[in-house]
Amino acid sequence: MKWLKWINGIALRCSKLARAAHCCSPIVVCSVVCVLILTLSTAHAADINEAREIEIGDELAVTLLEGGKLLNNDRAQEYVNQVGRWLTTGTERVDLPWQFGIMDRAEIGSYPLPGGKVLVTLGMLKKLTSEAELAGVLAHEIAHVLKRHQLKTMSAEGGQEKLGAINFPMDRALEFEADRIAAVIMTRAGYDANAYLNVLRSLQNDRSNDQGLAMLNAVHPSFKDRIAELAPVVAKIAKPTQPDKSRERFQAALGSLSGAGRR
Ligand SMILES: [Zn+2]
Repeated sequence: MKWLKWINGIALRCSKLARAAHCCSPIVVCSVVCVLILTLSTAHAADINEAREIEIGDELAVTLLEGGKLLNNDRAQEYVNQVGRWLTTGTERVDLPWQFGIMDRAEIGSYPLPGGKVLVTLGMLKKLTSEAELAGVLAHEIAHVLKRHQLKTMSAEGGQEKLGAINFPMDRALEFEADRIAAVIMTRAGYDANAYLNVLRSLQNDRSNDQGLAMLNAVHPSFKDRIAELAPVVAKIAKPTQPDKSRERFQAALGSLSGAGRR
């Protein structure tokens, strides 16, 4: 399996750092934050070249996957990877080694890693009903990677001082920017950006005690504000497409996953 090869390859190089930086919190994102903070404690984002950016992403992937393995479903992994890579073809950083995968975790979550890796949880997939909605989630994370939002945020705020922080929210403006860019990326790739608004509304209306959703709420602006910021952009640029085909492809690839496609 290509994904396991990828993980095994980078695990060897990175396990020492990952072990050293692993936080005690059970929340995966905390570990990611801690490693990134360690990495950035001596560097400014502008000084990090693309090769190093990719290395940092590899290191973070290892740590992230210590808290939840990749889903053992080749077809689903390939499908998510294909949708993600298709989205990146119209971007200014098409040459990054983009890889997209599904983590076998029940809570809602998605994680952009510097250098072009993006992971979504099975819990997130279960909130989605179509390929266009999946594209929206992936495009938001692609936007963070394109603009190096994580590197910029952490180095701007002083990595060393942030060591041990549990939550690491990005600037609200960066989240709104990622939403806007996501709508553009989706539209360019032929998806209806309204589908992304549907995802945000679905998450806004989720009343479960999902731990991942609680974390998402903690590190992002409210869904209400995000929808209010994004809706006028989508109204301007969205090109309605065929929702049935988007649903059919999604169901064909992911319908075997229990609960996939249900709200
Ligand atoms: Zn975000």
